[in-house]
Amino acid sequence: MEKIDWKNLSFGYIKTDYNVRCYYRDGKWGEVEVCSEETIPMHMAAVCLHYGQEAFEGMKAYRCPDGHVRVFRTEENAARMQATARGLLMPEVPTEMFNGMIDRVVRLNERWIPPYESGATLYIRPLLIGTSPQVGVHPSREYLFVIFVTPVGPYFKGGFSTNPYVITRDYDRSAPLGTGCYKVGGNYAASLKANQWAHEQGYSCEFYLDAKEKKYIDECGAANFFGIKDNTYVTPKSTSILPSVTNKSLMQLAEDLGLKVERRQIPEEELATFEEAGACGTAAVISPIERIDDPETGRSYVFSKDGKPGPISTKLFNKLIAIQYGIEPDVHGWTRVVID
Ligand SMILES: *Cc1c(COP(=O)(O)O)cnc(C)c1O
Repeated sequence: MEKIDWKNLSFGYIKTDYNVRCYYRDGKWGEVEVCSEETIPMHMAAVCLHYGQEAFEGMKAYRCPDGHVRVFRTEENAARMQATARGLLMPEVPTEMFNGMIDRVVRLNERWIPPYESGATLYIRPLLIGTSPQVGVHPSREYLFVIFVTPVGPYFKGGFSTNPYVITRDYDRSAPLGTGCYKVGGNYAASLKANQWAHEQGYSCEFYLDAKEKKYIDECGAANFFGIKDNTYVTPKSTSILPSVTNKSLMQLAEDLGLKVERRQIPEEELATFEEAGACGTAAVISPIERIDDPETGRSYVFSKDGKPGPISTKLFNKLIAIQYGIEPDVHGWTRVVID
C-alpha cells in the first residue's frame, strides 16, 4: 500500500478494499455480500436515478489512543435512516443489520483507518437506493443497501477556528412539509446553487431561514445551528431540518455541563443576543461561526472578533471528541468498540 499523508487528506474519496451490500427483493432483505468492486451495475431506468428514491447516512470510525477502533451512536443513524426510508416509501434496514454491516466493513478495511495522531478518520457512508426499472412515478420494488468507507482528513487543518456565513433568501433547501427532516440527496441538489452563491461572496457556507416565513433560523448549509447565551444552549425546532446526532449529543453534554437547553423557534433578530454560535454535524463536530451576514438588511451578527471559538463551544467540542476517542468515560454508552 502506498504511503498516505493522512493529515492532508481532504473530505474526498479514496478507494479502500471492500464494501458490503445487501439486496431487497420479493419483499425481503437477502444475505449480506462483501464486495471489492466500487461500481454498482444499475438499470438506466432505476427509480433512484430519475425520481431520487435514495437515502444516505454518514458516520466515522475513530482509531483511539488506547488502540481500539470505536464508532459513535450508530443506532441513532440506523433509526434516522429508518425514518427516512418510511418517508420515501423504502424498506427499512433493521438496526441489527445496519450495525452488523458497519462493523464488518470497518474490520475489512482496518488498514485504511487513519492513525489517531493524524486527526483523520474513516468515514462510513451507508446508501439505500431504489433500483427497479420503471418510468412511472412509483416506489421501487427492489433496493440495494450498500456501505462503503473512505479515509477523510481532519476537518480543522489549521486548528479549531471560526467561519463566516451568509443568509440566503433566494433559495430554500427544504420546505416545512417537505423532505428536510430526511437525509436524502434531493435536499443537497436543492442546496448546490445557494452554496455556490455563498462561496462566490467569500463565505464558507449559506445560512437558511425557514422557507415559509423567512423569519426563523433553520440550518447552516448541511449542518444544524446552535447558539449560546446566558448559560443556555439554544437550537432551532423546525420540521424542515435534519435531526443531527451531533446536535442531540451536544444538547446532552450541555446539560451535563450545567447549561440549560432550549429547542425552539429562533427569530433571526435573536442572533444579535448570542455570545457564541456554531454549526454542528459529524464532519466537523462543531464548526464555530465567526459571523452571519444578512445582505438584505445589511445586518451582521458577530460571534467572534478574533477568529477564536467561544469558551463553551470549545468545551463542548473537546468533550465530545474525547468521548468519541475513548479518552473520557462514555457515561451515556454512546460508543461501540468495533476493533479491539
Ligand atoms: C447529516 C446532516 C446533518 C448532521 O447530522 P449528524 O448526524 O450530526 O452528522 C445536519 N444537517 C443535514 C442537512 C444533514 O444532512
